[in-house]
Amino acid sequence: MLTAEVIAIGTELTTGARLDTNSQWLSRELARLGITTSWHTTVADTPADLLETFRIASQRVDVVIISGGLGPTKDDLTRQFLAELAGVELMLDVASLEAIRERFRARFREMPETNNIQAYHPVGSIMLANPLGTAPGIWMELPNMKSGRSTLIAALPGVPVEMKRMFFEQVVPRLPSSGRVIRSARINCFGVGESHAEEMLGDITMRGRDPEVGITVHQATITLRIEAHGENDEECLAKIDQTRLLIHERMGMLVFGEEDDELEDVVLKMLADRQQTVATLEVGQAGLLSSRLSGHLLSDSCYRGGTVLTNALFDEGSAVYVIEASRRQHQADYLLLTHFPFEMDADKRATQTTSVSLTGEGWSERKEVVSLGIHDLDEARLAKTALNLLRLRLLET
Ligand code: AMP
Ligand code: MG
Repeated sequence: MLTAEVIAIGTELTTGARLDTNSQWLSRELARLGITTSWHTTVADTPADLLETFRIASQRVDVVIISGGLGPTKDDLTRQFLAELAGVELMLDVASLEAIRERFRARFREMPETNNIQAYHPVGSIMLANPLGTAPGIWMELPNMKSGRSTLIAALPGVPVEMKRMFFEQVVPRLPSSGRVIRSARINCFGVGESHAEEMLGDITMRGRDPEVGITVHQATITLRIEAHGENDEECLAKIDQTRLLIHERMGMLVFGEEDDELEDVVLKMLADRQQTVATLEVGQAGLLSSRLSGHLLSDSCYRGGTVLTNALFDEGSAVYVIEASRRQHQADYLLLTHFPFEMDADKRATQTTSVSLTGEGWSERKEVVSLGIHDLDEARLAKTALNLLRLRLLET
């Protein structure tokens, strides 16, 4: 098995000013090549820490991918410390210097002196051309005392578009074949809590199972991620299919979609298939449902719009009439209601009951949802519970 460490460099990352998205992207791409990322390291532009980080990584994995720190400024120190790690000097690459000059010339600008440094690389390393920016990358191989093999090191610019292009063009062809591929699939469920889902899945989520199934929860949506390792795509996909079937057997109607599917995507698709429409009435909060149902390819044909009311304007005694009037006003087959019957005060909200209802011609069903007292989560749960109510109804009819 080949292991990798992904290093993200930049004080803007460690301070939280920017989110490190490169590491996520790189790990996913490495996984597709059958290379397992065992470490993510994020480090500030601090000289001593950089060297330490490089030293540790070069001795504990087979592949190190670094992003950031290749800019022309004083705080961009990746190339200097790669040279120090290898115990060599930096040397000028004339072709790179000319390429950088040319980039400036093409924009009718003089190349600032500071950019010179970008044309330098550690002796014995290879420059990686950057077709989208001034900073070339660096490829080097260092002996690994522990594994007895070489550790392969690629340093790429931090700018995501440059990093991605160079990874495909310059790094992938230089990586050894792992002989293994990894494929994954995501199955999305809604309607139970995480521990309940785990119980229903039983041995499927056992660690070390092949393929492995992991559970994550985001705003009450449960995502089951199937990861299969094999010698080729076919083998992986066959394994995934088998596990997918098992998951469907055990989770039943709780499964609503795959990959990036959200409940609203599925519901709108089902409505479109039936040539039916939905409208929304949101009481006590504004626009959760309507923002999910609008802006979608199918919104124009299936979402009839919505109304927002404050609690003061919504009288529970006459709710039935208000809901039906709203459904008719919007000329929709279904009306989805979300109701927060209290103020948005975090203290008061805990353990209070919110509700959703689904109303059609001559019928209505209602479901209560106990508030968790966590604003964002409560809102998302309520909107999703409403959409799920409609999904289940559509499944039955
Ligand atoms: P650098 O190569 O360090 O000069 O980085 C150039 C720019 O790329 C930074 O200013 C960030 O905006 C962006 N960047 C650097 N590292 C990352 C990262 N790990 N994830 C996302 N963006 C990044
Ligand atoms: Mg930087």
